Amino acid sequence: LVVACGLAAYWRPDLLPVWLALLFFIGLNLFQSGFTRFCLLEKGLKKLGLRAESDHIREMAMHDALTGLPNRLLLEEHIEAAIDHARATGTKVGMLFIDLDNFKQINDSQGHKTGDQLLVAVSRVLQAQLRAGDMLARWGGDEFVVIVPGLREPKQARAIAEALAAEVQNELFSGLTDPYITLSIGVALFPDDADTCEALLIQADKALFFCKSQGRNNIQVFSDMRHRGVGYRDVDFTTRLSAAVKQRLIQVHYQPVIDARTGIPVAVEALARWQDPEHGWVSPALFVPMAENLGLIHEVGYQVLERALDDFSHCGLKDRLQLGVNVSNRQLLSKTFVRGLRDLAAHHEIDASRLKLEITESIALEGGGARERLRELSAAGFVISLDDFGTGFSSLSRLHELTVDEIKIDSAFVRRVKTRQGRVIVKTIVSLAQALDLGIVAEGVEDEETAAILREVGVQLLQGHYFGPPVSNDQCAQFMHCAFPVPRHAGFGPVRA
Ligand code: C2E
Ligand code: MG
Ligand code: MG
Repeated sequence: LVVACGLAAYWRPDLLPVWLALLFFIGLNLFQSGFTRFCLLEKGLKKLGLRAESDHIREMAMHDALTGLPNRLLLEEHIEAAIDHARATGTKVGMLFIDLDNFKQINDSQGHKTGDQLLVAVSRVLQAQLRAGDMLARWGGDEFVVIVPGLREPKQARAIAEALAAEVQNELFSGLTDPYITLSIGVALFPDDADTCEALLIQADKALFFCKSQGRNNIQVFSDMRHRGVGYRDVDFTTRLSAAVKQRLIQVHYQPVIDARTGIPVAVEALARWQDPEHGWVSPALFVPMAENLGLIHEVGYQVLERALDDFSHCGLKDRLQLGVNVSNRQLLSKTFVRGLRDLAAHHEIDASRLKLEITESIALEGGGARERLRELSAAGFVISLDDFGTGFSSLSRLHELTVDEIKIDSAFVRRVKTRQGRVIVKTIVSLAQALDLGIVAEGVEDEETAAILREVGVQLLQGHYFGPPVSNDQCAQFMHCAFPVPRHAGFGPVRA
């Protein structure tokens, strides 16, 4: 350091005080950390009369290097000021805790550079929506915080959150090959939900956590959920999940898949369910990733498979229907997965061609053992379905490299099919599937108009609440009992139990 400073002084002797100050403060770094050292440096430079340098240091300390947005430090200062102002004027301050759904997958599959570009793009879109006086800050990772002062009612905060989420989707969703970006937003208000900066952050974070438990891509306002006894982070959720898995309490519900032309059920999808005694039904979108992190996914996956195959083998329709089971990344990568599945199917006397394994697009395109495993499954006669198609972060051009039999168009596209652009996208997927000789399912069909459009563009199989939500094994059996034999009728409506 001394040598570096000596050289610097030789190069720009006029800046000697700066070099000396730097030497002194970098030395101090050994003993100081984080913000403190920036403060010391800033003060030191001010004392030396170097105000511009001091301002620059402050700027650096208070802003995020990637997006240029205020960071936590500046945010907290701003919240304090907004709260003071709200106290004086009798208004409310809205805090929106924003998280990008599936960001980790994008980062993992497309690399950090794309991840960074996405964070910058999202920050620009959000920033463009805000008024003067609002503040957008980067909280860290893929989390952002928006502070909206001067509110009169909680519903204003929700409306702003909705507008931000819609704008990000509109601006950053330009077609099939792009990642589908959605937001989860937790909202809390001063003084309704908390009266200090710290407490407000905690409540907004709880609301955000609740969003994720609801399957992401939604907005939760703290005061709306408070009365529902939600506060997942207050309890040791992971302990509860581990206990539930050990006690084999993971259940399975079934949702019918319908032939688009005849209206007859052709398959059921098995969906894992967990009912926590205190918090009720917990979405698999929350507990499956949690089970993956806890190393419990093999156990969860096996319990689901065992239960589903057992139920299926007793339903009396195992030669007419197919059974779809979701398979997570870790399960698929396990070397014993294919053998275990074959044994289980043989034990229940279920033909491999009746078992459809639903794998997500991003997993299927990952390198490593995933593709190898897909080939093995295919060679063993199992059917492979590419779930949530279009939301993955892969290139369409690589689809032909995979051993898959069917693609499931994600509900995000199905929801948009009534718009011109949405219809074009679905049509493109259908043409692609036809060209590659793949089966095609649309999931998340909620009404007849959507079903009619999908049928018209050539989607073969339909799944969604319009035809039947996921239900228990008994209810599913009842549904199937009504569906078979089904009188043939022109066109069709939902086949209901
Ligand atoms: P998925 O495999 O894409 O399942 C479809 C999800 O959409 C299910 O959510 C289903 O309940 C929901 N859904 C079906 N029809 C409609 C509709 O008309 N409208 C709307 N809004 N939603 C509809 P669910 O059961 O919460 O599962 C979420 C995800 O969790 C699944 O998405 C799947 O990826 C994962 N998952 C579920 N069970 C398992 C499992 O046993 N193993 C693994 N690895 N993942 C599972
Ligand atoms: Mg699925
Ligand atoms: Mg899906």
